[in-house]
Amino acid sequence: MATLSIDPRLSSRTADFVSSDHRMLIDGRFVAAASGKTFPVYNPATGEVITHVPEAEAEDVNRAVTAARRAFDEGPWPRMSPSERGRVLWKIADLVEEHLEEFAELESLDNGKPFSVARVADVPLTVDMFRYMSGWATKISGKTLPLSAGYDYHSYTLREPIGVVAQIIPWNFPLLMAAWKLAPALACGCTIVLKLAEQTPLSGLRLAQILDEAGLPTGVVNVITGYGEGAGAPLAAHEMVDKVAFTGSTEVGKLIVKAAAGNLKKVTLELGGKSPVVVFPDARIDSVIQGTASAIFFNHGQCCCAGSRLYVHEKVFDEVVDGVSHVANEIKLAPGMDPSCQMGPLVSDEQYHRVVGYIESGIGEGAKVAAGGPVSGVDRGWFVRPTVLTNTNPRMKVVQEEIFGPVVCAVPFSDRETDAIIKRANDTIYGLAASVWTQNLSLAHKVARGLRAGTVWVNCHNVFDASLPFGGYKQSGWGREMGEEVLNNYLQTKAVTVAL
Ligand code: ADP
Repeated sequence: MATLSIDPRLSSRTADFVSSDHRMLIDGRFVAAASGKTFPVYNPATGEVITHVPEAEAEDVNRAVTAARRAFDEGPWPRMSPSERGRVLWKIADLVEEHLEEFAELESLDNGKPFSVARVADVPLTVDMFRYMSGWATKISGKTLPLSAGYDYHSYTLREPIGVVAQIIPWNFPLLMAAWKLAPALACGCTIVLKLAEQTPLSGLRLAQILDEAGLPTGVVNVITGYGEGAGAPLAAHEMVDKVAFTGSTEVGKLIVKAAAGNLKKVTLELGGKSPVVVFPDARIDSVIQGTASAIFFNHGQCCCAGSRLYVHEKVFDEVVDGVSHVANEIKLAPGMDPSCQMGPLVSDEQYHRVVGYIESGIGEGAKVAAGGPVSGVDRGWFVRPTVLTNTNPRMKVVQEEIFGPVVCAVPFSDRETDAIIKRANDTIYGLAASVWTQNLSLAHKVARGLRAGTVWVNCHNVFDASLPFGGYKQSGWGREMGEEVLNNYLQTKAVTVAL
């Protein structure tokens, strides 16, 4: 193996973990892949290999699913008292919180995001998610139902865990996406095989150690590392899996649906977006500029709900575009672990080329660059400058397709009917999120109703909370993450009727 390069700014604890012999959690044991194969993990700030992790394939998937099946059918977890399950979830939250700095370092190193952001966003939101779902464990209940069929019946529903769940997650918020998936499924009493994203396996592997330490019974959570085709596809297709919960691209979401058809396993999907941001002329311009810049540039635009289409009323268009471009130009690009970093590199070489390709395609189709552009000026690492494009039209690829990078298309609109701008905002195959900026209460609510999106923010963007359901209309997905609603993803309802 070549000498591995580790960032000198990492704490010794994190450096030791990164250079340790990485193992997957299968059936309560930390194991290598059955084949012995591993694959490299990169530091996006340098492009260098930092470590290797096991490459799971069909055989490993089968071992993990078999363990989860056994844990569900015979193990204590689904039969445990809800308060005991809740206590385990709370313990996981405490342990993650205890290791907050370490998780933030791993996230920054592996994904590229600023350490300063990971420690106030990714990790605390992860802790919140486990705590919030810990509370739900004791509050899952059915109903008693009066029957029109007659008085002499007693009918009620039971809400039961759906069974063995396959969870497949992406690389943009590696730890948080694991928490969004694991916490509700555990609260419901399911058992799980979690496949981490191949680009960012480190925080999930560290989380696996913590899950083990928190006292989860054997086989309840299995954590595997591997590629989409090699590990994700056999997991989504596995006959012993009852449900697959996926977060990732719309393209792969469609493959998951096909793979799930074999045994008609239940499917929920949290997919792509092309979220509109609509700015009316009465909005508070200072907060619009900061807020709409953050809507697209937060996490380097690598958010499924990134505000990537900026519709601004013509009266304030120049002011807003100049303001957002100024914010973009001031953002300091640096490795995530550099204390001065405001924006790190994109996650991978593939993602870098994809995003630069989109910027070039926009320019090729006639868009003007108000800030940023295809050249980052940083000599190594997968950096892309925050970019503002104007002079676009609705049919351009940059306006229609999800870029998943720090690139926003700003478009003016005039004093036409409000309905016309709602129509333009809805002119996409996606429907994940949107934001509206105005001081006019009635207008804000009217637009919120008209937008076909699972989340609408008013005078803000990217506000998340464990209590808020999140998910997509149209091709942005099926089902909801978080909030009470996510429990529906992991429960099924049994109706029991007794003749008295
Ligand atoms: P992105 O394009 O952002 O990398 P993907 O949708 O490709 O997102 O990947 C999200 C997750 O889906 C990752 O864990 C990846 O390994 C997994 N994945 C990719 N292809 C497949 C597939 N054919 N079946 C199951 N999982 C897959």
